[in-house]
Amino acid sequence: MASPKALLRTYGINPKKTLGQNFLCDRQASEMIIRRCGITAGDTVVEIGAGTGALTVPAARAAIRVHAIETDGRLIKLLEQMVNDNQLSNVAIHHKDIMDVDFPAMAGAAGGKLIVIGNLPYYLSSQILIRLVEHREVISRAVLMFQQELARRVAAATGSREYGRLSVIMGYCSEVTTVARLKPDLFYPRPGVHSEVIEIKFKNTPATGGCDEALLFDIIRHAFGKRRKTLKNALTSGIPGPGIETWMDILARAEIDPGARAETLMASDFVNICNYYESIYATTKERHSNG
Ligand code: SAM
Repeated sequence: MASPKALLRTYGINPKKTLGQNFLCDRQASEMIIRRCGITAGDTVVEIGAGTGALTVPAARAAIRVHAIETDGRLIKLLEQMVNDNQLSNVAIHHKDIMDVDFPAMAGAAGGKLIVIGNLPYYLSSQILIRLVEHREVISRAVLMFQQELARRVAAATGSREYGRLSVIMGYCSEVTTVARLKPDLFYPRPGVHSEVIEIKFKNTPATGGCDEALLFDIIRHAFGKRRKTLKNALTSGIPGPGIETWMDILARAEIDPGARAETLMASDFVNICNYYESIYATTKERHSNG
């Protein structure tokens, strides 16, 4: 693997901090990550932020097709050169923002679910994760590198210090395992923090009892929005509509202490709250509007 530092110098490119550009420099590390992705010959892979191709090349050797997404136009020629030099005919390079990628269309063309990989730009990691959750009907799993602190939040268990909104959402729709930890000196430029690679296997059918997922995510967001508030207060002030009495009723039916804090609740508790919100509040609203 050519050193990203030398490659970038050849193309006259300075890494941009604003795009989260810390390029993986270690061939063994990139091959280890791709091995742990468990990509097989029939898989179609989408790579987020292909950069200088550290993961693109080994991924393309394992998969039937790789869609390499990169927003920085300066890196596209370099990536094309990398693909040519390695005689890879199964890489499609897309000069695109990952937030604009049409995952269902890619899966449709592939004739099956996608595997998403990437050493994520840190400034956008949470938003990317939520976007993958929203498109999980066409994504079987994702193997992603995050800053260690965020990776731990994503994988955190209920009640732990790191447990938050992302942990609940991921617990609700996936199984998360830590795959590898990487030191800052494996990257150029060297980041200030360690990185972690996690695997996210999306569940086929999370147990919702039919509740509206957008509402569920809203409830989770508000519950964690005011971390020091009790659940009853966070929900009453965050979600317009039901007053404190109705929230007390919803929480009582869901068998949740209204004085509890969000970090003590599991994903299934939030699903219960969402279901009771719909049955109690929607019914009350209907009664009022009919009467
Ligand atoms: N995959 C390469 C590696 O491991 O060396 C690069 C990883 S670097 C941490 C993140 C990459 O994501 C950069 O190449 C950056 O330009 C790209 N990137 C940043 N924002 C992006 C976006 N919105 N959509 C697609 N790529 C983006």
